[in-house]
Formats: sequence, structure tokens, C-alpha cells
Amino acid sequence: MDLGLRDKVAIITGGSVGIGLAVAEGLAAEGANLVLVARNPDRVDAEAARIADKYGILVHGVAADVATAEGCNAVISGAQKAFGGADILINNAGTGSNETIQEATDEKWQYYWDLHVMAAVRLARGIVPQMKKRGGGVVLHNASICAVQPLWYEPIYNTTKSALMMFSKTLSTEVVGDNIRVNCINPGLILTPDWVKTARQLAGEDGYQAHLQGVADEYAAMKRFGTPEELAHFFVFLCSDKATYSTGSTYFVDGGMLKTI
Ligand code: NDP
Repeated sequence: MDLGLRDKVAIITGGSVGIGLAVAEGLAAEGANLVLVARNPDRVDAEAARIADKYGILVHGVAADVATAEGCNAVISGAQKAFGGADILINNAGTGSNETIQEATDEKWQYYWDLHVMAAVRLARGIVPQMKKRGGGVVLHNASICAVQPLWYEPIYNTTKSALMMFSKTLSTEVVGDNIRVNCINPGLILTPDWVKTARQLAGEDGYQAHLQGVADEYAAMKRFGTPEELAHFFVFLCSDKATYSTGSTYFVDGGMLKTI
């Protein structure tokens, strides 16, 4: 099935590991060229070179912190310089938090607001004009099931991901006339290296797999984590010409974790 992605240019923030890396590989497998963004320059450059070589496409690595205005500007100008602009923007960079409302500082709230919300705002301001010049585009936001079904131990994550979901909806209405589709994806438990690292820290080498299974048993109806690749298929579909009537929506990919309709 031709997904119509060959020679498109896709920006993926947080593209050097985990979900972002799987989405990058999914798009690369369809022939899209990539702008891969993350802070650690060694990791982003290594993955950019590996993906370019494996799929025979062009990948431009940008080492930038999208929680800052300067970092977002580096992404916008990087896409412009490397490819003359972008057709697809995947706002994926993000991370869990761990706090109580009583104890978290203003600085912590501000950091997550900048990372989960302002990055999407700033990148939309810079990339939407590029998309308009190219005749349209796709923006996807990776929020979380926590945007609507919170986990008690990360109120900042829940709140900022919820705001990202609303931003996605609002942006979609602003750009629908420009042939730009905007959607949000809310994943459930996806087994990325970060989950494994945390489980190892909490339960040790002998206990980490049982710890992860315990998390899956508690939260996911399917009683397992999803893989980054399972989730990436969904992102690739929403970027493709097979999803041309989808905009302004939020889609859950969560193994049955959501408890409401
Ligand atoms: P990982 O921690 O595995 O990867 C995060 C990626 O984002 C890395 O490439 C990291 O690279 C990059 N990154 C982090 N902060 C910044 C920053 N400030 N600027 C630029 N890049 C940054 O995360 P996951 O793959 O698990 O998660 C990806 C997204 O999916 C997140 O938004 C997360 O909230 C969401 N999600 C994840 C779920 C899961 O179960 N894994 C479930 C639901 C949602 P570097 O450190 O070099 O910057």
C-alpha cells in the first residue's frame, strides 16, 4: 500500500530513542526524509546516520532543547536549511514527572509547560508557514492517556499533557483551511528504554521484569506494554494520504487502559 510519504520531510522531536525513534524509522521505511531532534548530540547524530544508511533517505540531525525558544528556532531553521521546509511535524519530546502539588516548585511547573506545550506552540508558529508554502502538511502531538486519565504521582505531567491535547484541537481549527491536518495521540504503556531503566533502578536486575509485568497487570487491559513499533504504525498512518479526512481528533493507543468511553 503506497502511503504517499516518499520524499516528504518529517520533523520528529525526541527522535533519538523510544517512541520518537520508532516513528522516525516507520516514516523512513516509507521513504520520508527526516529532521531528527534531541538534546544529546552524539545520540541524535548516531541515529541520524544509522537511519539514513539503513533506509537510503536523508536525515538531518538537530541537537536542540525544544523546551527553549532558541532550541525551537534551531529546529525551524534546520528544517529550512536542510530541506527548504517540512511537511510533517511530530511533537513527541517529553518525559514523565514525579511530585505532589504541595511540594512542586514554580520552576518545575514552568519547565514542563515549556517542554510539553510551548515547544508545540513555538514549532507550530515556525513550521506552519513552511507547510503552507508547500501546499499543506500534518502535525501530530504525542500527549498521553494521562491527559484524560491522570496518574496520581505526576500532576504536572497530567496537566501539561492535557493542555497539549487542547492545543492540538485548537491548532487544527486554525489551519484546516490551509490543508494542514492536526491530531493528537494518547498512548498508554509503551515499553521504551526509559521504563526498563526505571524498573531496573526500582526492582534490580532480577526483579525488573516482574515489576514491569506488575505495572502492565495493574493498568493495561491487555496486561502487557505496547512496543514503540506498534504505536509508530499509528503515527505513520495518521501522517499518510490514507488519513486525509482525520483532523482535530485525539486517538488512544493504550491496550484498553482507558476506563471511559
Ligand atoms: P524517552 O525518554 O524514551 O525519549 C525521549 C526523547 O525525547 C529522547 O530522544 C530525548 O533525547 C528527547 N528529549 C527529551 N527532552 C527533550 C528536550 N527538552 N528537547 C529535545 N528533545 C528532548 O521517551 P518515550 O519515547 O517514552 O516518550 C516519548 C513521548 O511519548 C513523551 O512525550 C512521553 O510523554 C510520551 N508518552 C510515553 C509513554 C510511554 O509509556 N513510554 C506513554 C504515553 C506518552 P535527549 O535526552 O537527548 O534530549
